[in-house]
Amino acid sequence: MSTKARIVFCPPDSVLIKHGHIIDPSHNIDFVGDILVIDGKVETTGKSVRASSDTLIPVVDASGLIVCPGFIDLHCHLREPGFEDKETIATGARAAAAGGFTTVCCMPNTNPPIDSRSVVNLILEKAAQSGGARVLPIGCVSKGRKGEELAEMAELAEAGVVAFSDDGSPVSRATLMRHALEYSRSFGLPVMNHCEDLELSRGGVMNEGRISILLGLRGSPAAAEESMVARDIALLRLTGGRLHLAHISTRGSVELIRQAKEHGLPVTAEATPHHLTLTEDRVAGHRQNSRTALDSNAYDTNAKVSPPLRTSEDVEALIDGVRTGVIDAIATDHAPHATVDKTGEFDSAALGISGLETALASLLGLVRQDRLDVNTLILRLTSGPARVLGASAAGSAALKPGATADITVFDPDREWTVLPEALLSKGKNTPLTGQKMKGKVMLTLVGGRVVYKDEAVRPESPDPRK
Ligand SMILES: [Zn+2]
Ligand SMILES: [Zn+2]
Repeated sequence: MSTKARIVFCPPDSVLIKHGHIIDPSHNIDFVGDILVIDGKVETTGKSVRASSDTLIPVVDASGLIVCPGFIDLHCHLREPGFEDKETIATGARAAAAGGFTTVCCMPNTNPPIDSRSVVNLILEKAAQSGGARVLPIGCVSKGRKGEELAEMAELAEAGVVAFSDDGSPVSRATLMRHALEYSRSFGLPVMNHCEDLELSRGGVMNEGRISILLGLRGSPAAAEESMVARDIALLRLTGGRLHLAHISTRGSVELIRQAKEHGLPVTAEATPHHLTLTEDRVAGHRQNSRTALDSNAYDTNAKVSPPLRTSEDVEALIDGVRTGVIDAIATDHAPHATVDKTGEFDSAALGISGLETALASLLGLVRQDRLDVNTLILRLTSGPARVLGASAAGSAALKPGATADITVFDPDREWTVLPEALLSKGKNTPLTGQKMKGKVMLTLVGGRVVYKDEAVRPESPDPRK
């Protein structure tokens, strides 16, 4: 044994991930090898990478695991300020990290809503302390989310919002939407609309169709969404702004967006994991593809969501949209609720699904069914949403040298069961309760820092001689 002392140092936010299947479809990266992260940035990738001999860097064995850019969620509800019994920025940001998300955009339907610089600052401060995913706030389109007059969009843009939305509610007035698109153009930020004609959807608690009739529940028709999608596309043609359509759920909406894109309009769209994998049958508490009769009286309030779960034809059209790029991004619309909000009558239960921690496993089900390939799935969770955000998310969706090391490592085959009490989110409201899942996030890095690690991942003790 040498008695000579070696001088080694431990650079912060550094790790060597070895033997992983590295996939970054936006840069045509797809090989089994190593990725070295130093000081929060990707240093190098290759078939076999070694850290320099004078550094002490933890090594993670990623054999059999997929290593990809960190997921970006364009749409979640973190509930703070105002509804901390449902979620806080800290619990939401940590749940996001556990779901493989390194960046999440939070919707402004808080109390007070995100319509002033002070609320934006509060969220950014809380997010910085959370130790989870990055949190990017979305500012209101209208003052107080009341749908009457425009919010101080310039002030919000300056304070750091990455988009504008009144989500939770649609921008119902066409003139307000028109002006929002016109103003947002000067900031280069998208307006994200929750498309729902409230006249048509009034009283609807699920999709309008055969199942709503069978269950005796009031339905909301696909036309309630599609009519506003069509209106917004027409307004986009008029203004030349940047329109992003939130949680698209129907075949007709996919078709409208496809046509708009063919005409070169700057529209983008997202779909949620639940709309891509579940149908309206879930309202009756049945497993997907169940052929049993709808004889249950115990309707599942955890399947009550806006827009509602739709038909299998809609699901097919959405998957096709994700495959072809008509749908740019998969976004969770993570909508956590306290248990009390989801108990009781179906008609009065709150809307929304807690989705950050089940998103990846749900979507990998589509890959196993050969309905989507894993590279396209990763694309719609990484560079797809990054492009919607533009410069504000730059550097967080690539594995090329110099990029910010926002990295997700997942095991596509690992099995687990959805236990609400095990979710890091305060929102235990998931229709997947008790379901066996396949595919799990093992490690999430934000700027090279570990923000989530499955207990099965044990970094090997670093060896300075390697
Ligand atoms: Zn919405
Ligand atoms: Zn939402």
